[in-house]
Amino acid sequence: MDCLFCKIIKGEIPSSKVYEDEACYAFLDIAPQARVHCLVIPKEHICSADAIDGESAKVVAHIFTKIPEIAKSLGLGEGYRIVTNVGEFGCQSVKHLHFHILGGEKLSERMA
Ligand code: AMP
Repeated sequence: MDCLFCKIIKGEIPSSKVYEDEACYAFLDIAPQARVHCLVIPKEHICSADAIDGESAKVVAHIFTKIPEIAKSLGLGEGYRIVTNVGEFGCQSVKHLHFHILGGEKLSERMA
């Protein structure tokens, strides 16, 4: 499958790793939209949040238990935002489920 994030997980495309375990991988976004901008992805290919089912929900739950740890390691003690874009109208450009962690500064109150 020609998936950019699957290639990043395999190490075929370089990335700035923040965290990794058996189920997920976190790395810095190449085009940060906040002072701190990290992506957390499942190692298994899931197209988007729209494709989460009972089975893949387990890895999503796992990711959400790791996000506080990842945020702490990034110095986001004052808060952060978790975003996942879905589909064309959601402006999802990479079709592999990912959670943006944005922070390091006061973010805009507007979300869209
Ligand atoms: P989205 O638009 O929600 O699908 O988010 C995709 C994100 O992936 C964007 O914020 C991009 O900047 C980021 N991105 C694309 N290619 C890379 C890469 N090679 N390394 C790190 N982040 C990337």
